[in-house]
Amino acid sequence: MSFKRWCFTPRALVVLCALTTSAFLLICGSVLLETRRAAGELARSASANLAATIDSDIVRSIEVYDLSLRNAVNNMLTLDTERISLPILHLILFDHAATAQHYGRIRIFDETGKLKLDSSTLHPAQESCADKEFFKIHRASSDAGLYVSDPEVGTGAPALVLSRRITGHDGRFLGVVVGSIRYSYFRDLFSHLKFGEGDTATVFRNDGRVMMRQPSNSDTIGKDLSNSAGVRQILATRSGSATLRSTLDNIERLYVWQNSDRALVVVVGKSLESIYGPWWRQVFIIGGLMLMLSAFVIGAAFLLAREMARRADAEQRLAQLATTDALTGIDNRRRFDERMLDEWRRGWQKLPLSLLMIDADHFKTFNDLFGHQEGDQVLVRIAKSIAQSSRRPADCAARYGGEEFALLLPDTELDDAMRIAEEIRTRVERLSTEKWATTVSIGVACVVPDMAGSSRNLIEAADKALYQAKEQGRNRCVGVDPDMIVRAA
Ligand code: GH3
Ligand code: MG
Ligand code: MG
Repeated sequence: MSFKRWCFTPRALVVLCALTTSAFLLICGSVLLETRRAAGELARSASANLAATIDSDIVRSIEVYDLSLRNAVNNMLTLDTERISLPILHLILFDHAATAQHYGRIRIFDETGKLKLDSSTLHPAQESCADKEFFKIHRASSDAGLYVSDPEVGTGAPALVLSRRITGHDGRFLGVVVGSIRYSYFRDLFSHLKFGEGDTATVFRNDGRVMMRQPSNSDTIGKDLSNSAGVRQILATRSGSATLRSTLDNIERLYVWQNSDRALVVVVGKSLESIYGPWWRQVFIIGGLMLMLSAFVIGAAFLLAREMARRADAEQRLAQLATTDALTGIDNRRRFDERMLDEWRRGWQKLPLSLLMIDADHFKTFNDLFGHQEGDQVLVRIAKSIAQSSRRPADCAARYGGEEFALLLPDTELDDAMRIAEEIRTRVERLSTEKWATTVSIGVACVVPDMAGSSRNLIEAADKALYQAKEQGRNRCVGVDPDMIVRAA
């Protein structure tokens, strides 16, 4: 297999380079997309872990505190509070859990809302909670359970107010036990966790009211966001994740939420900028480099292809020059020899091969009379006449040397070759002027090439016929019998 068959055309080179760079860009794009998906997944699982940690801490803290509230409620029902001395009653009602850091005092109000007992003092001040929301809710309903009030902001240290109803054995409303968890608890909890730039953690009450938010902002605590579609989506399921735009600061985040006790919902938000910012930087750097590289490769392929096309053109021109006769523009002797060899090698096809040897008559005299320049012009005209009779693509009209021409006619019988020879002869004759009769003598030979023989025999036979034509008076065509050639071979 020759090297030439494997050569790329310039266009194929450009297409191949474009396809290769497109494939590289596709692979690079898919890797970057996969990195983006992984970054999103990592942020989602990190946020879910954070939400679960915050949620379980809050649930545990409320549970512990709620035990103290339940203890107070139960003891209020079972003890004869009027007969037990106040210090002892305090010891029984308010256990040590309620005195822990972040837990506020526990107060017990009677059925009219009047403060009866306060864990922080044996002598509570005159105070009423009859107008408080939690009191009205517990008085109206016995199934409020552990009620989480609206956050108390602006009344000293803000706190999460928790309350339970004291229900008599006969179902009567006997008052409420109220406690609070200070917001310092949340601040302490959040301070131990790592939040990135733009990240948030929000604790919602199950009706959509903001109980706490990190970063903390007094304007947002207590805000009712139940009208926000995003918050409604969050409250609808116990846990999940979604990309939403915050109604508080208008930043788009990936929100992950966890709601295990159904009273409070913890939502952790991670800004898309912090999740995908590094990824975008990667895209700009890698994508930019890849695009530059692709542009460079395709540009280089274009330049190379242009150079290849230019070279191919030059080679083709050179090849044409090497096989063309400079004066007449028809094939030269070298080309004729190549074609003769090719046709001879096709001898296995058993097709007749004819050859015309054409020689200008008395050309020396013409030159002497009219000069070489004029002689050249006549040779050009004779070549043109011969070329006009070389009609089939396989025919080869060539200048054999000096004022001698050859016409190779593959797949042509002697009769047909003789007819063509006669055609040439008359056409040349028509070139004559009053001063000079331009004529040619033509020797014609035909043979079925035989691999054992040589093309030289055919040329010699045609030459012999040409000699005979000259002998017989010129301006004529003489054919040679094929059998004679075989014998000669
Ligand atoms: P004949 O009829 O026997 O062929 O006579 P002739 O004069 O043509 O033959 P001869 O072989 O004696 O002379 C050939 C002449 O052809 C000699 C040469 O001056 C001329 N000739 C050969 N090549 C060229 C050429 O390229 N240009 C010109 N003008 N003349 C050429
Ligand atoms: Mg001659
Ligand atoms: Mg001659």
